[in-house]
Amino acid sequence: MDNTIPIMKGEERLSKIAEQIVRLANADFSKQGDVSEEGDDIDSIVIGLNLISEELETYITQLNNSQKKVEHTLIQLSEAQRLSHIGSWEWEVPKNTITWSDELYRIYGRTPETFAATFENFMLCIHPEDREYVNGIIQKAFKEKAPFSFSHRCLRPDGTIAHLDCKGNVYVSATGDIERMTGTSQDISKLKKAEEKSLKLATIVEFSNDAIISKTLEGIITSWNKQAETLFGYTEEEALGQHISIIFPTDRLKEEVNILKEIKAGHPLIGYETERKRKDGTFLAVSATISPIKDINGKVVGASKIVRDITAKKLAEERLLAYTTALEQKSRETEQFAYIASHDLQEPLRTITNYIGLFYDDYKGKLDKSADMYLDFISGASRRMQTLITDLLDYTRIETEKTPTKLDLNVLVKDIVQDMGKTISDANAKIEFYNLPVITGYTSRLKSLFQNLISNAIKFKKPETIPIISITAQDDGKDWLFSVTDNGIGIEKIYHDKIFLLFQRLHNRSEFEGTGIGLAHCKKIVELRGGKLWVESELGKGSTFYFTLPKKTIL
Ligand code: ADP
Repeated sequence: MDNTIPIMKGEERLSKIAEQIVRLANADFSKQGDVSEEGDDIDSIVIGLNLISEELETYITQLNNSQKKVEHTLIQLSEAQRLSHIGSWEWEVPKNTITWSDELYRIYGRTPETFAATFENFMLCIHPEDREYVNGIIQKAFKEKAPFSFSHRCLRPDGTIAHLDCKGNVYVSATGDIERMTGTSQDISKLKKAEEKSLKLATIVEFSNDAIISKTLEGIITSWNKQAETLFGYTEEEALGQHISIIFPTDRLKEEVNILKEIKAGHPLIGYETERKRKDGTFLAVSATISPIKDINGKVVGASKIVRDITAKKLAEERLLAYTTALEQKSRETEQFAYIASHDLQEPLRTITNYIGLFYDDYKGKLDKSADMYLDFISGASRRMQTLITDLLDYTRIETEKTPTKLDLNVLVKDIVQDMGKTISDANAKIEFYNLPVITGYTSRLKSLFQNLISNAIKFKKPETIPIISITAQDDGKDWLFSVTDNGIGIEKIYHDKIFLLFQRLHNRSEFEGTGIGLAHCKKIVELRGGKLWVESELGKGSTFYFTLPKKTIL
């Protein structure tokens, strides 16, 4: 109160001075006595005016200070509005002029220079779909003369949309007429987006095919979605507030200690396969992904669990494993049988071949023509049977070799070419190879592999054509990629897979000799080493057999 200006005192003084001035104006200076009296009056007027001028100066200083304070407060208010995205407005209803704060202009995407704030213009700022609704609210406020609040979308000139939350007050005059309305509009677009996002997430969680559960660091369940209800048999109501151990089999309770240890350290557990228990006591195999839940400061405050029922998958895996094991066993037995059979057949076959040889030498040409022909058939068949048995033995023997060695494939192929000298020279074939790598492998297997492919390339040559065979190797990163290319008869696309099956041949014996074991043998050799074998070929245009051999050390 000390700072307030003593205006009343000043006014009194001012009226006294005025009185004195009036008196002075009416004074009769012709009279002697009046002159000295009026001189006193003038002095007191001057003193009074000086005092008033001093008071006025103080008053002006105080006014200036107050104005500065008001300006400062206004700046603070504007800054507060900007930070909180709250704009304010005041509507002088009788004059239909509206005053907007700077923030409100910003929110509506307008500027005071280009936008005349009237009610009609304000309505244009509102999203067309919300205009009727907003107008209804304002009309209701007029009628009820009571505070109001509403939300609406505003459409900015640049086409963007903002979501606003508005509150208003109505001021009524003594005569009951509305004088003005004031209010605030808050831009809640970010909040709305966050709301929509969390709503979306909530929907995803609710309708997820996985059970989604959250719990505190003490293991208390804090959320439990629909699928968790289905999977574990507890309703949300039953599960919330319970300890997570309700779904743990007794012998797995210790797991939770380890899980929480990892979670507290901020480490997620991904695809953790384990077993859990339903409300009815039955068990299920699950795959769980458990992640830490952090507060805004990054502190771990809980964990979220996404749990998938993998009982069916586990069962299928177990079945597949059993099936594969049985198949492997069967295949081993079959190979063993083929090996034993072919091995045991060799002996009697040798005897037959020997005696046929003797019989042939002694009786050929001595019996009639038919007997000679039968003799030819028998000796041809026994020769083929011998080849068949040798090939079969080679095929089944693959797994019996045990020690891999370092092999220069240039040397290996050169040896093969030498061994096949007669076949190669009979066919006049040309075999090209260079820069083949040195690899670690089983000599006999690799020899069989290259030998089979080279002999096929010669065997399936085009008539009247010199077979040209080229063997290449290419470094393919993890693997070596080999190719054996010929200019032979080629293979139709539909047979590109079939030819690698055991006993599968595309020609009869009169066209090309063979047993149909060679390529199956090659495939087995390549696959045992973790590689692949395939063919690219067109009928009449030659073939290229490709195979890969992984570089990794083999055992
Ligand atoms: P075989 O040579 O004893 O008949 P394979 O298993 O080695 O048996 O070959 C299977 C079949 O694939 C052959 O009968 C032949 O029809 C076809 N084939 C293999 N190599 C070639 C090749 N280089 N060119 C054309 N056809 C081939």
